Amino acid sequence: MTVFHDEIEIEDMEFDKETETYYYPCPCGDRFEITKEDLLNGEDVAKCPSCSLLIKVIYNIDDFLEGEEISAPAKPVLEKA
Ligand SMILES: [Zn+2]
Repeated sequence: MTVFHDEIEIEDMEFDKETETYYYPCPCGDRFEITKEDLLNGEDVAKCPSCSLLIKVIYNIDDFLEGEEISAPAKPVLEKA
């Protein structure tokens, strides 16, 4: 059973564009972290690397998918041969 320290809305987290990771301050002094990729994969648990606390991230996956290219990867038509 997973016990979350808190539930945090994604808007309240801090996004680092370079690492594409969302951060939120942990009571231990470190920060919870979850990557954008994790969120896109349906992961919603941010972990603190320095302690065992977890937070549940509240977000709407549709908001994330909107900005992404969800169309099928364009394959060269010539690939048929
Ligand atoms: Zn911590």
